[in-house]
Amino acid sequence: MNSKYINKCHAVSYVVAGILILMIILFNFSQMIMETWAYSFMISENDKTIKVIQANDTSDTHLAKNHKESDDAVKEICNTKISSIKGEKADYLEDTANKESLKNTINKDSLRRTANNEKNQTDDNSVQNVSNTVIQLRKPVSGGVTTSVFGDVVDRRTTHLGHDWAVEVGTSVCAAADGTVEKAYLSDSYGYNILVNHGNGLKTRYAHLSKILINLGDTVEQGRIIGLSGNTGDSTGPHLHFEVIQNDKHVNPLNFLK
Ligand SMILES: [Zn+2]
Repeated sequence: MNSKYINKCHAVSYVVAGILILMIILFNFSQMIMETWAYSFMISENDKTIKVIQANDTSDTHLAKNHKESDDAVKEICNTKISSIKGEKADYLEDTANKESLKNTINKDSLRRTANNEKNQTDDNSVQNVSNTVIQLRKPVSGGVTTSVFGDVVDRRTTHLGHDWAVEVGTSVCAAADGTVEKAYLSDSYGYNILVNHGNGLKTRYAHLSKILINLGDTVEQGRIIGLSGNTGDSTGPHLHFEVIQNDKHVNPLNFLK
């Protein structure tokens, strides 16, 4: 009677222990499944985000491609002119000697900028006497998608001082009007850029270029190819940044375009 009772107790305790072990195993197993599920969910969410980003990227490329045809048309017009420039100046930036001269230009330019700043502070009044004649400017690139306009907020302190057209690297950049090349240099922000002085207090800047095809002091006529578009300097993608400066003030380029 006693031994039967003891056996029964043993049997019960075995069953209880068995159930406990089973519960522990089940608990761990379910936790593992939950974790795996959560992890795969996270990965799929990430994938979705990446796909959205990729989709945006391709839409940009797509837009750029759409404008390729019109750009090609310009390249054809410009190519004849490029070949004539190429002989003497196309390799301007590759030539190490010229790189040195470019460095000098940068140094001279920073000196000139300081001098100009000082000058501007002293003869502010003379600036007001400069003629306000509106010169009709030619759009410096053909086609291109507008990606940023004048006055866009870049960050809390900065607004966009030009007009951006997304164009393929290597698209011909033409002078917006007749003028003289006042600056042609490499800067951290503008990359390879050109400043053309059109007289009457009007200047235009062409920035983020891949190539400069003119020299400092050159006289350029409206429509002349002065450089090739690129993605140099502080640029988030291939585009031309075009500025119009009137009486030392940045103004909206669209007000001057034909
Ligand atoms: Zn810009």
